[in-house]
Amino acid sequence: MNIRYFDHAATTKLNEEVLNEMLPYLKEEYGNPSSIYSIGRNNKKVLEDAREKVAKIFNADPKEIYFTGCGSESDNLAIKGVAYANRKKGNHIITSKIEHPAVLDTCKALEKEGFEVTYLNVDADGTIDLNELKKAITDKTILISIMFANNEIGTIEPIEEIGKIAKEHKIYFHTDAVQAVGNIDIDVNKLNIDLLSLSAHKFYGPKGVGALYVRKTVRFNKIMDGGHQERNKRAGTENVAGIVGLAKALEMAYEKLEENNKHLQELRDLYISEIEARVPYIKLNGHRTNRLPGNANISFKCIEGESLLLNLDLKGMCASSGSACTSGSLDPSHVLLAIGLSHAVAHGSLRVSFGLDNTKEDVEFLVNSLVEIVQRLRDMSPLYEDFINGDYVM
Ligand code: PLP
Repeated sequence: MNIRYFDHAATTKLNEEVLNEMLPYLKEEYGNPSSIYSIGRNNKKVLEDAREKVAKIFNADPKEIYFTGCGSESDNLAIKGVAYANRKKGNHIITSKIEHPAVLDTCKALEKEGFEVTYLNVDADGTIDLNELKKAITDKTILISIMFANNEIGTIEPIEEIGKIAKEHKIYFHTDAVQAVGNIDIDVNKLNIDLLSLSAHKFYGPKGVGALYVRKTVRFNKIMDGGHQERNKRAGTENVAGIVGLAKALEMAYEKLEENNKHLQELRDLYISEIEARVPYIKLNGHRTNRLPGNANISFKCIEGESLLLNLDLKGMCASSGSACTSGSLDPSHVLLAIGLSHAVAHGSLRVSFGLDNTKEDVEFLVNSLVEIVQRLRDMSPLYEDFINGDYVM
């Protein structure tokens, strides 16, 4: 069966050109960058070239780029690294309720070690309130960590304004930009970002490699003991092939940023408008316009997101549901609850994230399938009858 993939926020297919750049470092160029003989030294140079390429994209200095094993590791290194190094200065961190678990669980772990964390609310679109942020700042605040764009609902946060507030108060600002990188032009200086996390597999690079940008003036500790790689901030022999792939994929994403975004936005807007026109009792989640170009998250009332996923899968389509059922929990997504959805509405959410290979014909196939699946599932549901009759309110 022909697979139609609409889950690019989960991961993307490795680009063929990126793979070709990586292959020599998986085959003949296998030297350890820390070794002094030529195949080691060559790989050290390759590593530094990649660092330079990554830095250039964000208007950073190569010395400010640290390669890691994934986006989650970058988030951990940023938050714990800053927390441990600045403990004497303060123990307070500000983040939001809609962060990825890589940030939320890191903050929760720090709370157990005596740090205090403020979790900011978001409005119905998923945007933080800058006044609430300002009010949360105390003389013990050492870090603000707010994601660039949300992985579930696609809302883009007011990063430039947050950067300004952080700078005025001399507080470090970290942003989890795992979903934004490759989709949004980012200048860390213009936006006053001090630390930024990214992950290659979200922009057609390989899995298992990420990076963390850290401004030179930021004091941060390593969080893993071992070798002295990455200027003694991240132990472990470097994933040379992965890093080469990360840099190449990043360059490719930014070479055609405008063109790619136009394509993704067209697909996203077509999907949203078609679903809104053809399926009753639905709700678009996240900000209508200020959202990631390929993201559309819609709640279908009186439907279980899991049933939608299974039915789409039978037709060869891949998407993601708004509930955490797949991870073994029946709790609805913390993001959907934070924007004010009831449990019932949150359970009927479907995240579709378009990618560069998707076409308008894919969107039509998806919409036609959803119209049919939603109607069939609702026809089978006693809840839907009550809902239509006004006996059940969601
Ligand atoms: N942060 C965000 C916003 C994400 O969407 C993800 C992955 O889905 C991560 C962090 C974790 O990235 P990785 O899978 O590379 O660990």
